[in-house]
Amino acid sequence: MQMKEMRNLLAIRASEKGLDRPMRILLTAAECAPLAKTGGLADVVGTLPKYLNKLGIDARVMIPYHKVIKDKYGDQVEYLFSFYVSLGWRNKFVGVNRLMLDGVCIWLIENEEYFSGPIYIPDREGEQYAYFTRAVAEALFRLDFIPDVIHCNDWHVGMLPLLLKTQYIESALGSTRTLLTIHNIAYQGLCKFDFVQDFLSIPDGCLGLMERYGMASFLKAGCVMADRVNTVSPSYAREICTWEYGEGLESVLSFRGDVTGIVNGIDKSVWRPGTDKRIPANYTASKMKGKAACKARLMEETGLEVAPDRPLIGMVTRLAEQKGLELVMAAMDQLLWDNDVAFVLLGNGNKKYEDWLRGLEDRHPGRACAWIGYDDDLSHHIYAGCDFFLMPSWFEPCGISQLIAMAYGTIPIVRETGGLRDTVQPYNMYTGEGTGITFSRMDGYDMADAVRRALALYADRPALDTVIKNAMSVDYSCDNWAYEYGNLYLDMI
Ligand code: ADP
Repeated sequence: MQMKEMRNLLAIRASEKGLDRPMRILLTAAECAPLAKTGGLADVVGTLPKYLNKLGIDARVMIPYHKVIKDKYGDQVEYLFSFYVSLGWRNKFVGVNRLMLDGVCIWLIENEEYFSGPIYIPDREGEQYAYFTRAVAEALFRLDFIPDVIHCNDWHVGMLPLLLKTQYIESALGSTRTLLTIHNIAYQGLCKFDFVQDFLSIPDGCLGLMERYGMASFLKAGCVMADRVNTVSPSYAREICTWEYGEGLESVLSFRGDVTGIVNGIDKSVWRPGTDKRIPANYTASKMKGKAACKARLMEETGLEVAPDRPLIGMVTRLAEQKGLELVMAAMDQLLWDNDVAFVLLGNGNKKYEDWLRGLEDRHPGRACAWIGYDDDLSHHIYAGCDFFLMPSWFEPCGISQLIAMAYGTIPIVRETGGLRDTVQPYNMYTGEGTGITFSRMDGYDMADAVRRALALYADRPALDTVIKNAMSVDYSCDNWAYEYGNLYLDMI
């Protein structure tokens, strides 16, 4: 469907609901790309409102005014006003600022105590985001913007639906609906009960509903109190209703019975090999020459031997257990010893994995590179320069990296879980169909088998070209994605 048609259909539905103005949506979260990003959550919050606005929806964003934003965008930020909020016996400053980015209004909540350091302050995240949640509710009153729907993302703002339904029900925000999107159920924002009771003045009677293994879970509060709960792929929506993936919230989610999944889109104005200014050479599905130049440059800059014919496998990832690094640890040495293949990983996080990866680099000079850190430019180089992109995740709510890899003609090798299962079609050597190589068991042998199948595909150039074309023609554009969200918001009002 064309953008114009989607826009008209949404407008018709909105007017049937009695809306004689654009629907008002506030997206709120801890991160928003490109301002402050540690993972896929930021990509979603940074991209979705742009496309919602194109569909005639008035979508705005509210996030913390993190130090990284001040450092990089401070001169474009406009101060609006400030006030104090009470949090138990404390009085805390709230500065409200505005940044216009790609036509989207982003409100930035300022507080030196909470947001002048890392995006997540170790051991203080609960307090940081409890403060932010209260500040969001209070700032909205003072802005001339009462949303039809507040779209809360992840545990950081999971308490907001509860606050609205208990403490703001008589206010102008009383009829505002809330959608909670779970980007990762493993992170729940667990705090002590007496902290949430004191800091957010949660009534006694509400404490039980957020209980998870003896702690107060911000995410569970949202799962119980939000008008709708959704997640970022249909498979993950099913998985989190099970004991294996639900992290203790499976009962409450199953009981709701309305948890659905919408697969994320990727922003083609950022992630398109034909126009991407960050990669050494541009290319498209019909003119692939530039990809070889990207591979050569990547090998050179990461200290790998420049061997154009050697298959190159890449990863760009948080170094967290979720990402299947145990499988990489189990299988990668043997794969590098047994095969003519090279491996490059960009990531940071858990020190255990960082150390192991440095060791891998030492054991395989010129054929393995572990780039420990966070680097947007290098991530573009890896998506463009590799032949394969490895994601052996234990669980993956949606996964954006495999979508980007496919757009760059880099074949994903993924475990069949969550969004990876929904977005990567396994290659079928008999029909030539498929966009990637998949495996199912959480096991190093299975992953190694998938890598060996990828290497066999690499040796068969015509078959490889077909899979590359298939992958590059997959459309995870943002228009359809935003349209699905537009309809979901309308379902709620
Ligand atoms: P998650 O949100 O679980 O981290 P996703 O696949 O949904 O995983 O999104 C990860 C996003 O973060 C991708 O855009 C990826 O390129 C980016 N990313 C992750 N680690 C790094 C890193 N070390 N440097 C640059 N980009 C990174």
